[in-house]
Amino acid sequence: MRKEAPLILIIDDEESMRDSCSLILTKEGYRTATAPDGETGLQLIQELKPDLALVDLKMPGISGFDVLERAKEIDPHIVQVVITGYATVESAVEAMKKGAYDFLPKPFTPDELRIIIRRGLERRQLTLEKEALEREKRLMEENFITMVSHQLKSPLVVILQYFEVILNGVVKDEQQKLEMLKKAKERLEGLLKLINDWLDIARMDKGHIVEKRKPLALHPLLQDILEFMQPLAKEKQVSLSLSPVAQEDTVLGDEETLKEAFSNLIHNAIKYNKPHGEVRVSLKTEPPWIKVDIEDTGIGIAKEHLPLIFEQFYRVNNKDRKKKEGSGLGLAIAKKIIEAHEGRIEVTSEVSQGSCFSVYLPQAPLTSSGEQTK
Ligand code: ADP
Repeated sequence: MRKEAPLILIIDDEESMRDSCSLILTKEGYRTATAPDGETGLQLIQELKPDLALVDLKMPGISGFDVLERAKEIDPHIVQVVITGYATVESAVEAMKKGAYDFLPKPFTPDELRIIIRRGLERRQLTLEKEALEREKRLMEENFITMVSHQLKSPLVVILQYFEVILNGVVKDEQQKLEMLKKAKERLEGLLKLINDWLDIARMDKGHIVEKRKPLALHPLLQDILEFMQPLAKEKQVSLSLSPVAQEDTVLGDEETLKEAFSNLIHNAIKYNKPHGEVRVSLKTEPPWIKVDIEDTGIGIAKEHLPLIFEQFYRVNNKDRKKKEGSGLGLAIAKKIIEAHEGRIEVTSEVSQGSCFSVYLPQAPLTSSGEQTK
């Protein structure tokens, strides 16, 4: 479905102003509506729900300042740009206080108008996206118990089914029975891992991690993880590589938890990859950080999911993902560990092209001789 073009309402008592703005904006592909006074303007805001309103400050009847205030009451997300012939600093400040997004003094050029409108609409888009995200996060929080119970219950249901089939004597073949018991055991192991992971998050205590930190070289740590993951990568036909050792690769870190964080990221990069794909791990020094990029050529993550993937139990729902085992906890754990190290994690991704998770960890302080602590 094609989205409708943004609607701009022009509220100005000067007919020539309304017509010229309308002409410029229609040419840009926007939809426009006009109102000759504040009262009509407010009525149109109510009826048409425009994305942005251009409001003249000085009009007969109710003033532009009143329009600004009352329009926000009708639609808190409306972006309002003030246009006026008597642009003084005071009136600009006053207009901003009453909820205007920006200020355009008359006379203005078509380009000035176009730029301010584009920026205003971008701002509205961002606000709306942020709200949608917050709504989704709230929904996730509200459904948290349901989500957790579902994660815990589904392996138990499968195990119960295997047991019932065996106990009812439906399966006679010993080999087949063993296969079923093996599968039930795998599901139990998965469940145990899930519970342990979840406990990890709950227990992970920043103070404890900080206490255990010591100078730690990242290159050998990453090399160890990649060696450990090699059999899985081979099975998935994914190649792994690590950049040469960076000049300085020492962070102040707790080896055990950092290993867990990087393992989760590298495991995902293999798991969500495609056959003959690649995982490239690289280390860079970006003072005061050591930056580790974990780049893959996998299925990627759509933009709307990106801010949510670090939430506990969040899993992107798509047909590619359905086949992958997982709990939706790996990234939440990694983020918690990295933040406990006073670092941060960022992600960029393109659907069907791949993702890049970047971890920033503070460099270990230098020794008195100017070398990094080892
Ligand atoms: P899990 O992998 O167990 O589902 P995670 O917390 O590790 O849980 O990841 C959350 C979600 O983020 C995954 O379900 C997946 O949809 C998405 N994801 C994580 N890493 C990648 C990646 N490298 N490529 C594509 N999608 C990813």
